[in-house]
Amino acid sequence: MKYNLGDHLITKKKHVCGSDEWEVLRIGAEIKIKCVKCAREIMVFKAELDTKVKEMKAKVNQ
Ligand SMILES: [Zn+2]
Repeated sequence: MKYNLGDHLITKKKHVCGSDEWEVLRIGAEIKIKCVKCAREIMVFKAELDTKVKEMKAKVNQ
């Protein structure tokens, strides 16, 4: 899967806050994503993220 800055991702598993939507903040060996609801940021390896993402949403302002 290819990720771009600002993309919104829907994960299979919900975050502890109850939201399943994340925003891509930084791309590298690890990808930094932020929970849209509680703003918690986490780093995930791309291969790991690929297994967690259920759906990709295109960038909101595009
Ligand atoms: Zn959250």
